[in-house]
Amino acid sequence: MSVDSLIIDFGKILLSNVTESVGVLAQNSTSKSSTRLLQPLWNLRLGREDFIASPLFPVFLSVSFYFSLCTPFMIADLLGSKLPWMQKYKIQPEKEVTLSQIFDTLNLTFWNHVLYVLPAAVGQWVWTPPTPLPELAPTFWEFVWQQVAALVVFDFQYYVWHWSHHKVRFLYKHIHAVHHRYHSPFVWVTQYLHPWELVTVGFLTTTNTWYFKCHPLTTWSYMLVSIIVSVEAHIGYEFPVAMHNWFPFGLVGGAPKHDMHHLKPMTNFQPFFNHWDKLFDTFCPFMKAGGIKTKALIDYERRHKEAKKNH
Ligand SMILES: [Zn+2]
Ligand SMILES: [Zn+2]
Repeated sequence: MSVDSLIIDFGKILLSNVTESVGVLAQNSTSKSSTRLLQPLWNLRLGREDFIASPLFPVFLSVSFYFSLCTPFMIADLLGSKLPWMQKYKIQPEKEVTLSQIFDTLNLTFWNHVLYVLPAAVGQWVWTPPTPLPELAPTFWEFVWQQVAALVVFDFQYYVWHWSHHKVRFLYKHIHAVHHRYHSPFVWVTQYLHPWELVTVGFLTTTNTWYFKCHPLTTWSYMLVSIIVSVEAHIGYEFPVAMHNWFPFGLVGGAPKHDMHHLKPMTNFQPFFNHWDKLFDTFCPFMKAGGIKTKALIDYERRHKEAKKNH
């Protein structure tokens, strides 16, 4: 047997092994994709890859989601007493949302988008490469735990940011006071923010998914979850189906807790969970739908009145 034919035979064996391996890999990937719960959702990207991979996609998704989520609540606020079934869930029922308040909040939201969100989006479009889109969806477990973990991290980061922007007079006066213009929150107050607060929240939300190397589907879902959490905190209604009513041990605050923060700004700094507020004694019990004071809130107010008298 000549050296040439040996090399050719070796080449053939190598090629057949490679072809086999590629086949096995493809088979594995197909069998993995068929067992992943989120694969049908992730497959919706097919045929739209250019748009989905564009750095503008997350901006488009979050901005359009924010406005679509807020608009029905604005309509409900404007209809007010014409929707008595909804009004009974209002946390501060005596406070009406007026057209001028809606105009004021939308005006700031609009300028924040034009002056800060739009240039950031253009910058991303120019300098950021397209998002790599893997074949496989994340596993359901990975999808859930990474979002919960990112939310827990954000919750702590914002607690610290929020606490310092209330405790340090300069920071409150020049930055966070903008958000506290309204003592009775309604949906557009969510992004009624000083640009620095808007940039901080945007930065923290974006970077938290980097720590966990999230799949793009997880990252975008987390972005939407963050919007839901922040909007829910400001709607001014407590619905029986609201998140804080599902979680045991008073783990989650929800709209009533943040409503109370706008009434008593030195309390309830944590945006989603309650543990840091309880641990550092900044927790204040809250009012329920219809402005009903819980026993915990009545006790809290009595204790604070007595403490003030004794000083
Ligand atoms: Zn707020
Ligand atoms: Zn605040």
